[in-house]
Amino acid sequence: MRSHYCGDLRAEHIGEDITLSGWVHRRRDHGGVIFLDLRDREGISQVVFDPDREESFNLADSVRSEYVVEVRGTVRARPEGTTNKDMGTGEIEVLGKELIILNKAETPPFQLDEHQQVGEDVRLRHRFIDLRRPEIQRKLRFRSQITHNIRNYLEDNGFLDIETPILTRATPEGARDYLVPSRTHEGSFFALPQSPQLFKQLLMVSGFDRYYQIAKCFRDEDLRADRQPEFTQIDIETSFMDEEGIMGLTENMIRELFTELLGVDLGQFPRMPYSEAMKRFGSDKPDLRIPLELVDVADLLQDIEFKVFAGPAKDPKGRVAALKVPGGAELTRKIIDDYTKFVGIYGAKGLAWIKVNELEKGAEGLQSPIVKFLGEDVAMKVMERLDASNGDIIFFGADKETVVNEALGALRIKVGEDMNLIEREWAPLWVVDFPMFEETSNGGMTALHHPFTAPSCSPEELIAEPEGKLSRAYDMVLNGTELGGGSVRIHDQAMQKAVFKVLGISDEEAEEKFGFLLNALKFGAPPHGGLAFGLDRLVMLMTGSASIREVIAFPKTQSAACLLTDAPGEVSAAQLRELNIKLRKTP
Ligand code: ASP
Repeated sequence: MRSHYCGDLRAEHIGEDITLSGWVHRRRDHGGVIFLDLRDREGISQVVFDPDREESFNLADSVRSEYVVEVRGTVRARPEGTTNKDMGTGEIEVLGKELIILNKAETPPFQLDEHQQVGEDVRLRHRFIDLRRPEIQRKLRFRSQITHNIRNYLEDNGFLDIETPILTRATPEGARDYLVPSRTHEGSFFALPQSPQLFKQLLMVSGFDRYYQIAKCFRDEDLRADRQPEFTQIDIETSFMDEEGIMGLTENMIRELFTELLGVDLGQFPRMPYSEAMKRFGSDKPDLRIPLELVDVADLLQDIEFKVFAGPAKDPKGRVAALKVPGGAELTRKIIDDYTKFVGIYGAKGLAWIKVNELEKGAEGLQSPIVKFLGEDVAMKVMERLDASNGDIIFFGADKETVVNEALGALRIKVGEDMNLIEREWAPLWVVDFPMFEETSNGGMTALHHPFTAPSCSPEELIAEPEGKLSRAYDMVLNGTELGGGSVRIHDQAMQKAVFKVLGISDEEAEEKFGFLLNALKFGAPPHGGLAFGLDRLVMLMTGSASIREVIAFPKTQSAACLLTDAPGEVSAAQLRELNIKLRKTP
């Protein structure tokens, strides 16, 4: 049915008789000559039908967009002046001799080049048409090149691709589980894996030494920003390697990927302790392309009358930080109001600011609603701390530490983007030395990574004082996005029990939920560790896409539904009966 792909024809094919198969991208009637732009996955060729071949001419006249056709014809040079340099096939056209309509198409709900005029929901409902767009075809093909490249790298380094179950028990990665009722075990449920974490650790206990899998993971989260309930990880685990070895091997994998597919040299990835990332950037995934930093000023402000600053400055859980933006004195009131609303999303109650107009005049040269509350002396000390100069604006965050970090951390990125302060295209780094635990809102402890991460201390030290203990976890961050994360794991039963204890998981509960892991740790578990990369995010960054939905063939919506298949859907009463499930009416 085809001798060539439409997009592959070049001047070297001139004179050849060829057969193309594909979709009618566009039909144009040019004064008695019909032009069909014929499209397949490789691109578009222009086919011309003259009226002297009456039968095929009439057929060509009758086709409509998205008809599937087969064309036989001869490749010829385009007439002088009509070549198209922007098209791979722009030097040639095909003189159509025979046309077969393989299938008709109804008028599509949107033209491929007018996809932006329709809402995303229309596109997702007709995703099979949306996926015909050359741009999205390019992205999915690039995704396939990425996984191909990564598989090659890992296989060359002795990794084995091993599948792990989808119907399993809960794996805690901090989200809700998707549950699947069991028909054969009444009242019992499988959980879909939030990650293959425990299975990959068991594979290490079994001696496979180097494992990888391009694995589907499922997390029932409140879908913030750009997340999907099912997503793909490049999941990796190794034995007898420490964090240096694992980070080195995977950093090299990503570096080679960028060189081979994008011609970009990411260089050596710097490392930054978690505490430094939070202090300087308010984030554990700092975007280092933006040169703005948070600077602590609590010590300068704790004794002033102004409670908005003095309160958090004196609170051990508070933070008062400033963000200096060079050139920001030009920002209008309206823009500052917008930024104030923006930080409100993160819980900030306001956004204090100082414009540095004429520093040489002291406090008089500062324009701000708050300088009068600081007093000249303190205001000038703040200027000195920030190394301020004329033309700067300084924003302040004063609140609980988490609020200040989130609000100013997000503001630095927003301002950096708005003011075009991005200094380079790619900024990778490793964030290391994470705390083992963080406090939950109800005063308990939760694992910052997951409870199988090895702490950097002994079980006794951990139990004695869990606060402030570090873990052997590491995250790879690129342009402010967490690309991957992992850790050296606990391979010793006593340590695993200690961590469960700190987390408030009783022995019985640990036995019930993770007995198989605790048991495996008794039977010769080697030291091991690994990490997982988010494939969707990696493809998104490498293709410059705005959302992960653009690089997933069949994504779900923000409310975790598939508009194409209308999933999730209702099931029949018979199916429910078989599962012994009775639905409760929602009040
Ligand atoms: N299982 C972890 C996650 O999904 C990654 C890892 O620790 O390897 O985040």
